Amino acid sequence: MLPMTPKAKQRLLMTIVLLAGLFAILKLTYWVHFHQGKIDIQQQSERQLKELVNFLDGALSRYESIPHVLSTNPMLADVLNDQQNAKKVQELNLYLEEIQHVTEASDIYLIDALGIAIAASNWQQPFSFIGKDYSFRPYYTDAISGNLGRYYAVGTSSDKRGFYFSYPIYQQGGKGILGAIIVKVDIADIEQQSTSIAMAGQYQFLISDPDDIVFISSVDEWRLTSLTPLTQTKQYALNASKRYAERPIGELLIKPQYQEDSLSHGHIYQIRAGKNLAQYMDTHHLMTKAGWRVHILAPMKPLLESMPALMLLSASIYLLLALGLLFSSERRRNLQRMQLAQSLLEQRVEERTQDLQQANDRLKDTQDELIQAAKLTVIGSLSASINHELNQPLAALRSYAQNTQTFLARNMQDKALDNLKIIIELTDRLADIVGQFKSFTRKSQGTDSATDLKGCIKQALTIVQPEIDKQGVELDVLLPEGQYQVWGDKVRLQQVFVNIMSNAIVAMQQSSKRTLSIRVNCADKFCISIQDSGPGVRESQMEKIFEPYFTTSERTGLGLGLSISQRIIESMQGQINVANAEDGGAIFHIILPIYLAEERQSS
Ligand code: ADP
Repeated sequence: MLPMTPKAKQRLLMTIVLLAGLFAILKLTYWVHFHQGKIDIQQQSERQLKELVNFLDGALSRYESIPHVLSTNPMLADVLNDQQNAKKVQELNLYLEEIQHVTEASDIYLIDALGIAIAASNWQQPFSFIGKDYSFRPYYTDAISGNLGRYYAVGTSSDKRGFYFSYPIYQQGGKGILGAIIVKVDIADIEQQSTSIAMAGQYQFLISDPDDIVFISSVDEWRLTSLTPLTQTKQYALNASKRYAERPIGELLIKPQYQEDSLSHGHIYQIRAGKNLAQYMDTHHLMTKAGWRVHILAPMKPLLESMPALMLLSASIYLLLALGLLFSSERRRNLQRMQLAQSLLEQRVEERTQDLQQANDRLKDTQDELIQAAKLTVIGSLSASINHELNQPLAALRSYAQNTQTFLARNMQDKALDNLKIIIELTDRLADIVGQFKSFTRKSQGTDSATDLKGCIKQALTIVQPEIDKQGVELDVLLPEGQYQVWGDKVRLQQVFVNIMSNAIVAMQQSSKRTLSIRVNCADKFCISIQDSGPGVRESQMEKIFEPYFTTSERTGLGLGLSISQRIIESMQGQINVANAEDGGAIFHIILPIYLAEERQSS
């Protein structure tokens, strides 16, 4: 496997963090919503439970006092004392039937001290209770002991579920118990009404007995099932009590196993509903008098069904926020990268500018060196004539000095003084010549200033004068009157003139007629023309002579003179060009801008 790049690693890490965050957010959303939903359901269930219990209490208590009221009727004790009197029994039957109609009880019947029914409201029904033994029923035992009896069971004769209230019938004068009067309430009616309430409240309910047998429920299949496992002992006990008559009791499929916990509410159970198991929250209440445990079972389905949409919503919000965050951090990083790149660029530009500046400085130095070298080359080519120019006054000096010695020996002081004057003049001339060369050969600093054009031409002529003399060149110089000023470096401009003049002298070496004419014209610019009477420049070389290292003088020339001259003139915003004159010879034109002091100041 290829090793991961740091970027790929970072991406992987980010994806893991994003997924972990998503997982956490889903879990949190589920937990919060489920928790809150449970609280809401529980609060609602508690309200509904209270309502249902109130309703059940009311439904039962309507009948609770009837046995007591009936027991006060002497007719009942009379019948119990005179059981064989069919007329009295029949009257009681009719009376009980009427009471049953009025109270809407299921059945009302009178049992004797042995638990045998003597009279009953259902006397003419096929399942009439008359003659049946109810001594096994706890409501009989309670009443015979002098108490109000409460019990619920499936009727052995009617096979209907009922709630029984019993009350003892005392002997006239309160001595001894003769039997008991029992009022049976039909549970099916109560169940039906409770189911309607449950349906309106969108919940299910069930009522279990102390043995955890469900005997009332809004769900048919839950009825007469056991909430807890039906052990054999439990089965025996149920059979012995005959509470559920012959009805088979099954086991309700409930997960986790039901545990009666009177204190804790909100247990969530999965209970069989049809083919499937459905989740319900259990909230319950024990009706102590009746011995009923009423359970409200609120379905969890709506809450569970609302979960995916909610989780999707929170996942979307999370992802939107996370992506927004990622986007903004990526943007910030890009910005930082751009800023870094920019500052790097600026730094590089700075470095390059410095390099360029240094290169420029070096170039300028080199250029200066080159200009100097070219100047020295010209001087070199003129050296023989310069030598001659210096030797002449030196020789004269020597002979004047010798003559002065002779004059002094002969005591001819006046003559000696004259000679000394001449000697001084000669040394001044020598100093002049040397001074000219010294200032010409001085390395220029390249500093521009207002420069006297005619002065420059004259000084250049002084430099080439020895060569002019040597070669026997005729000078034809015409400089007009007036101040002719240009802006530039004096020594360099002088160098240009020396260069062109010395080239001209060289060119005329083979010519029989040697004339060097110099003219200065002034229109909107200065035009300096330097013409010789040499062979001129060959047409093929016209373009090349200003190129560096082009020379036809193999012995002395560097081929830099004209190219440097062109540079110097161009740096003064001028032009230089060459042509061949009609009457032969080369003619160089130098065009320079006129320098006006006011212009320079204002610019
Ligand atoms: P160099 O004098 O060292 O040769 P330059 O650049 O001064 O270098 O001159 C280049 C060439 O131009 C010369 O070698 C010569 O051939 C030509 N040239 C210059 N001036 C003249 C002139 N007045 N007449 C004819 N040719 C000339």
